[in-house]
Amino acid sequence: MNDQSDSNSAQSTPQGVVAGSIPLFAGHPSHDLIPIQDFQRTVESAFSQNVWRLFDYGDEQGNPDLIQFLVERFNQREHLNITSDNLMILAGSTGGVTMITNLLTQAGDTILVDSPSYRDALHIFRDHHIDMRAIPIDEGGVIVAEMVKTLETLKAENRLPKFYYVVPTFQNPTGITLSQARREAIIELSQQYGFVIVEDDVYSEIRFVDEIPPSFFGLAGGKNALRLGTFSKTLSPGLRMGWLLGDTEQIQRFVTSGKLRMGGGANPFTAKIVADYCKSGAWDTHIEWLRGQYQTRRDVALTALKQHMPDSVTWTYPQGGYFIWVTLPEHIHVADFEKIANQNDVYFASGMGFYVNPDDGKHNLRLSFSFVPHDDMKRGIVVLGQLVKELSVE
Ligand code: PMP
Repeated sequence: MNDQSDSNSAQSTPQGVVAGSIPLFAGHPSHDLIPIQDFQRTVESAFSQNVWRLFDYGDEQGNPDLIQFLVERFNQREHLNITSDNLMILAGSTGGVTMITNLLTQAGDTILVDSPSYRDALHIFRDHHIDMRAIPIDEGGVIVAEMVKTLETLKAENRLPKFYYVVPTFQNPTGITLSQARREAIIELSQQYGFVIVEDDVYSEIRFVDEIPPSFFGLAGGKNALRLGTFSKTLSPGLRMGWLLGDTEQIQRFVTSGKLRMGGGANPFTAKIVADYCKSGAWDTHIEWLRGQYQTRRDVALTALKQHMPDSVTWTYPQGGYFIWVTLPEHIHVADFEKIANQNDVYFASGMGFYVNPDDGKHNLRLSFSFVPHDDMKRGIVVLGQLVKELSVE
């Protein structure tokens, strides 16, 4: 476990990574950013205490120490006024999106999503046969006037949405952050049209600026807003640990769901280790360090884009998170571009996966700066820039 020699190497290929390639699609933390030694110490210490606590079914709501830690942290840092009845532990944010969709919707129900939005969430909504209505975004996030138009259409059809799913801060895939004014306007709309706001807040800790807008949950006073969080981006996705904030009734409803009744709380073994790790102060120290690491990676990517992309290509300038969203010139279809890039061992996430209507993303791609070493990031962008130039020759 102490041997870090395989870090990001060809032998070690997490989800979807082709050995020997430059995986600019991978939205995972780089191995050298995962604090495995601190973790090992925490595991050893947990085994020397009340070891059976690790191996039993857990409380449905999740590990009480972890809940308490997160509640105090939110109250202190964001001046929220929550109690342990407002928070439950989940098997990652993905577990939360699935649970919310299961319990708040039925097949055929309507929800609102951004256009583009997070690909894997769209996948979950499709699995549940949900009718997704996509609202366009600009550099300030979702366009409120467009949301009003869609809501009016839905009202006339008598199919108002059950919820609005949004990644409000450093969005996956664009890196864009929704402005506070728009968040406030959307909260008013949610009250007027009666839908829940589901904010997938997995990147807000990875920020390169001092201030970010308050969460929907905070702005709405904890009413009618569900806020998901995760340890995947600041610790490691293999832990499968996240949380959900909501009002007491909503949390109670989720905690008493069949899945949690039957299986106990989310991953009690891991939750105990994560709780001990966080309570030691190590998580907060690690996050501070991580911000600098990711900011440097973002800067490497932005500098390489500036140096190697022709003027016909544009991209976003994220203030945090993992991603840069690239727009190709009109004459290049991303599916063709992807084929050629893959032949040159560079992999990115095609823009088409992030849209309800895939064709809307036919000139876009997402680059992730979280996973690859600096040199690979540069080399990958050099290759992509070269390919755009080759495809642009008359
Ligand atoms: N939501 C968003 C917006 C994400 O980008 C990701 C990671 N790709 C997830 C959720 C997954 O989070 P978790 O590992 O906690 O399930």
